Amino acid sequence: MVIVAGVDIGSTASKAVIMRDNDIIGEVIGPSSTNPAKTARNIFEQAIAQAHVAEGDVKYIVGTGYGRAHVPFANENISEISCHGRGAHFFLNSVRTIIDIGGQDTKAICVDDRGHLLDFAMNDKCAAGTGRFLEAIIRNMDIKLDDLEKLHFQNGDPCTISSMCSVFAESEVINLVNEGVELPRIIKGLHISLAGRVATLAKRTGLIEDIAVTGGVAKNRGVIDALEQKLGVKIKRFPEGADPQLAGAVGAAILAKDKLAATAGK
Ligand code: ADP
Repeated sequence: MVIVAGVDIGSTASKAVIMRDNDIIGEVIGPSSTNPAKTARNIFEQAIAQAHVAEGDVKYIVGTGYGRAHVPFANENISEISCHGRGAHFFLNSVRTIIDIGGQDTKAICVDDRGHLLDFAMNDKCAAGTGRFLEAIIRNMDIKLDDLEKLHFQNGDPCTISSMCSVFAESEVINLVNEGVELPRIIKGLHISLAGRVATLAKRTGLIEDIAVTGGVAKNRGVIDALEQKLGVKIKRFPEGADPQLAGAVGAAILAKDKLAATAGK
C-alpha cells in the first residue's frame, strides 16, 4: 500500500488530492490566494484530514500548476501539462487529446496510450478562451457559475457575440441585457464564443480522439456542448463522481506514485 499526494496551485483555484494505491481518498478544491505556500499547506491539511491519514503516511508529494514552485513541502514539482495528461488518462483510458480550460489559460494536450505527454499548445495571453471570460462577464449580472449550464440548455437561439476580447464582449452583453434579450440566449452565445476560441487552440495539436476536457470550466456542460459543435467531434464525459477540475492534482499524485516506484526499483 502506498499513499501519495498531488497539490495543484492554479491561477484561480487550488486543488489537493490524496491517493492510496489507485483510489482517491481525499480531494479538496479552494480559491487560490496571494500567498500560494499558505494556500497549498491549507488545502493539503484539509485533504489529509478527509483521507484520515497523517502527514507522515504520505510518502511522496508532487506540486503542480501555475504556483507549483510555492509548495515547499512537495518532494518535487512537475508542469501541469504533464499532470493533466496523466490525470485525464486515469479517469478515461482511451483519451489522447485533453483540452484543459482553466481560470486564466487554456491548453490542448496530446498524450500516448499511457497518458504520457506527446505535444501541447497553450493560450495564456488572453482571457477570451478561459474561465475568466465567463466570470468577468457574469460578475455584474447576478448569475452564478453554477447557473450557466442550466441557462445554456433552456430554449432560445443563441445570440451572436462578435467581440473576441472579453472587455468588449462584456459591453456587448450589457447592451443585449438592456435590449431585453433573454438570458439563456446570451449565455449560449457566450459559450459558443468561448468554445470558438478554445476550438482554434485545440485544432493546433491535431485533435486525436478520444478527446476530453479538464479544468474548472469542464464542469459547465454548456461549454462542452458548444465545443462539440465547434469541433464536430464527440467529447468523452468524465465518469460519474469524477471531477474534471481535479485532473491536474490527480495526475500529480499518479506521477508521485511513479517516482516512488522508480526509487524502489533502484
Ligand atoms: P486554474 O487551475 O487555472 O486555477 P481551474 O481548472 O481550477 O483553473 O478552473 C478554475 C475556473 O473554473 C474558474 O475560472 C471558474 O470560472 C471555473 N469554474 C469552476 N466551477 C465552475 C462551474 N461549476 N461552472 C463553470 N465554471 C466553473
